Amino acid sequence: MYDKSIPFEAKIRWIKKETRDTATYAFKITSREIERAYRFIPGQFNMLYMPGIGEAAISISSAPSDHDLTHTIRVAGDVTTAISRLDTGDVLGIRGPFGNGWPLEEIEERDLMIIAGGVGIAPLRSVIRHILNDRTEPRHVKGVRGGKISSPARIILYGSKTPKDIIFRDEFPRYRDAFQTFLTVDKADPEEYWRGDIGLITGMWNKTSFNPLNTVVFMCGPEVMMQSMVKELILKGVPGEKIFISIERNMNCGMGICGHCFFGPKFVCKDGPVFRFTDIEGFLGIKEI
Ligand SMILES: Cc1cc2nc3c(=O)[nH]c(=O)nc-3n(C[C@H](O)[C@H](O)[C@H](O)COP(=O)(O)OP(=O)(O)OC[C@H]3O[C@@H](n4cnc5c(N)ncnc54)[C@H](O)[C@@H]3O)c2cc1C
Repeated sequence: MYDKSIPFEAKIRWIKKETRDTATYAFKITSREIERAYRFIPGQFNMLYMPGIGEAAISISSAPSDHDLTHTIRVAGDVTTAISRLDTGDVLGIRGPFGNGWPLEEIEERDLMIIAGGVGIAPLRSVIRHILNDRTEPRHVKGVRGGKISSPARIILYGSKTPKDIIFRDEFPRYRDAFQTFLTVDKADPEEYWRGDIGLITGMWNKTSFNPLNTVVFMCGPEVMMQSMVKELILKGVPGEKIFISIERNMNCGMGICGHCFFGPKFVCKDGPVFRFTDIEGFLGIKEI
């Protein structure tokens, strides 16, 4: 029987290397019954369990409407290193899904700006693919089909360290079907011809056109990046209550019991990981709060 607090088995169907230290894994839940019962929304995460090693919280990077359940994992410590050594056909444990997910009801009839840094694009890919799979969503993005900008606007701003660190790089051409897409890197790579922007993601504003009062922002990335982006967004006139941020904290139980992921008075695992900026204003960027 499916109980999201107990790990169930999932087999790796395929692995795609994204960057030097990050790969996307597609999983097949081995029990038919659990597979049928398992449901998630974009922005939720699973606890991935490697027997004898431990568990790590990892966002779901696929959309609910996708064929495969995927996770995009950067090697950080024990669990993620052990996962990086697995192969197609290997099995690990999954508990979940946990967390609240992105508030999709907020983006109906509103412009959506997705802002991601590094591996922070993983939980946002779930929203991106959800929108791409949704036939009721507007298309005709600037420069793609007839130079029209979609309404409501759909925008992606993505920053990574170098071109080689761009995650889902091969998928960006498809994202352009529904999104105005802006990529920037901190540093170009001498070994590779890079036609995109160089510089901080905060320098990308001038290229985008959006109505701040009608815009909802979904953001995930390093906290310093998110702090400066929030400041700029608010200066541009985006209301703080329309800015949603996915937060990463050291996590243990994933269910609001152990208190490992306290974030001020809130649990990241249960009340988050997605928070309305105005609800966490005082805590962003403060470690071990
Ligand atoms: C809601 C949520 C969603 C997440 N989604 C994703 C995702 O989609 N993809 C993803 O890649 N990550 C994601 N993370 C982050 C992931 O959970 C952490 O990176 C997790 O700690 C990895 O577990 P681990 O056992 O591999 O690393 P840990 O052993 O927990 O190590 C984590 C950190 O500690 C450092 N560290 C580890 N061992 C040592 C040591 N001996 N000395 C010094 N430093 C050390 C590592 O360098 C790393 O920075 C998410 C986190 C949360 C809370």
